[in-house]
Amino acid sequence: MPKNKENKKDSTELETLRHSTAHVLAQAIKELYPKAKNTIGPSVEEGFYYDFDNLQITPEDFKKIEEKMQEIINKNYPFEKKEASLAEIKKMFVDNQYKVELAEEFKKAGDNLTIYQDGDFADLCRGPHVKSTGVIKAFKLTKIAGAYWRGDSKNKQLTRIYGISFPTEKELRTYLILIQEAEKRDHRKIGRDLDLFSFHDCAPGMPFWHPKGTIIWNELLAYWREEHAKAGYKEIRTPIILNKELWLQSGHWDHYKDNMYFTKIDEADYAVKPMNCPGGIQVYNNTVRSYKELPLRLGELGLVHRHELSGVLAGLLRVRAFTQDDAHLYCTPETLKDEIKGVILLTDKIYKKFGFEYHVELSTKPDNSMGDPKLWEKAEETLAAAMKELKKEYKVNPGDGAFYGPKLDFHLKDALGRTWQCGTLQLDFQMPIKFGLKYMGADGTENHQPIMLHRTIYGSIERFIGVLLEHTAGKLPLWVSPVQVRILTIADRFNDYAEKKCKEMQEAGIRAEMDARPESISKKVRDAQMQQINYILVVGEREVADGTVTVRTRDNKVHGAKKVDEFIKEIVEEIKERK
Ligand SMILES: [Zn+2]
Ligand SMILES: [Zn+2]
Repeated sequence: MPKNKENKKDSTELETLRHSTAHVLAQAIKELYPKAKNTIGPSVEEGFYYDFDNLQITPEDFKKIEEKMQEIINKNYPFEKKEASLAEIKKMFVDNQYKVELAEEFKKAGDNLTIYQDGDFADLCRGPHVKSTGVIKAFKLTKIAGAYWRGDSKNKQLTRIYGISFPTEKELRTYLILIQEAEKRDHRKIGRDLDLFSFHDCAPGMPFWHPKGTIIWNELLAYWREEHAKAGYKEIRTPIILNKELWLQSGHWDHYKDNMYFTKIDEADYAVKPMNCPGGIQVYNNTVRSYKELPLRLGELGLVHRHELSGVLAGLLRVRAFTQDDAHLYCTPETLKDEIKGVILLTDKIYKKFGFEYHVELSTKPDNSMGDPKLWEKAEETLAAAMKELKKEYKVNPGDGAFYGPKLDFHLKDALGRTWQCGTLQLDFQMPIKFGLKYMGADGTENHQPIMLHRTIYGSIERFIGVLLEHTAGKLPLWVSPVQVRILTIADRFNDYAEKKCKEMQEAGIRAEMDARPESISKKVRDAQMQQINYILVVGEREVADGTVTVRTRDNKVHGAKKVDEFIKEIVEEIKERK
């Protein structure tokens, strides 16, 4: 049941610093805009934010706000903690219904109510905070966004101010350079510039793939299918809409309902699948399986839908509909470790093809786990042993496993050093029990239970393409590239030759196109480079006479004239090798 989860940095100290900076932001806002109501201000992956009601500002106001924040930091106010009663808090926040609502909720949950005060600013907060405001050495406000109170679009829209802070000025500077570079590489921008995909209000959070984006998609899947066939996988396809009984049996109806979409057919309840496993299991269970058939590796490129709040949608990286490169492996206890090793090696091979480095995290038994603790121990040991035997390093995340079993998560590292969780390998004892999976053992009885592995490598195809676009800044490897070759003519009279050569290339399986516009050659070259076309071929008097093309690459290198036949041969080889 692989879930896509953002990678969380476990740097609590930095989180505390950033959350404390959020207090300073709220303090500055209250001084500058006394009518604004501060609501919540957590630290998040990209820094911190604070949401305000009754505040209209633009990024032009950041300078003034930052100056006020710096004043507060320079005063080095200590953060002082005080316990307070609900009555005291109601009095204190008489004009801020948000804080009162939060306090009532904390109280109901049995929490102590605490106030943190620095200077003359007090906030309802659980803490922790840095010792004093002076600890914040470097900060910056980064952007403004709209956000609904409690993330619910039925509620009032608030103004969210994002910021970032660091213990040193140097770290802030490095970060700002990284952000600039990341903006240039934003896959949403690349997707627009290269005409790969779009989003539309008629299906929020669900990408529409254009012809060029679909080429990338199909190339990734062709490679995937080839490697999986070699690794002994078989591919299946199962329905997207399945009935309520199935989701009750799998536990999703009770535990995952908030993220699911529903429909009715002939008065009966159905759900759109958020995961592929319950459907895939029907294929396993369609017949009596023998131990001789195991391990059975059933791959499925399954389109799943998961409801996400509109506020967290982020291009292809966080969507509501995506295709998982899923597979379920049904193993006997004897073959389990080898199967795990096989998945790790296949994942390694596929990531290396794209030039990704990665690290692996082993997540162990959580508090809400199901099943026999001894089985858990054995499963965690098996995952660890497989990694060790392959001499692969991993980090342990205690208590971070799924409730049904431990898992290995694969985190890709991109060109900017950011990490993205993509692949996952999860061991599952629960689903075989819930669905009564069996196989006939060597002893001739049918009461053996297979162990199930859930795994993805790309994770979601959408997300993987998003990460790949940011990693490569749109400069895709030749075999993935939507347009591999563009032929540019210097004048109209060379169009016939260019057209003939373009055709030859297309027939050889190269994605080639022509630019015969009456534009200057330098403009045509520039446009082809902007489109990240791998090979840019220029054709003029000499090329026609010699039967050549002059080869340039998108990095502005001129490689000189080449016989067309020779060029085709080389490119076809390069595509085939997936270099
Ligand atoms: Zn699964
Ligand atoms: Zn706080």
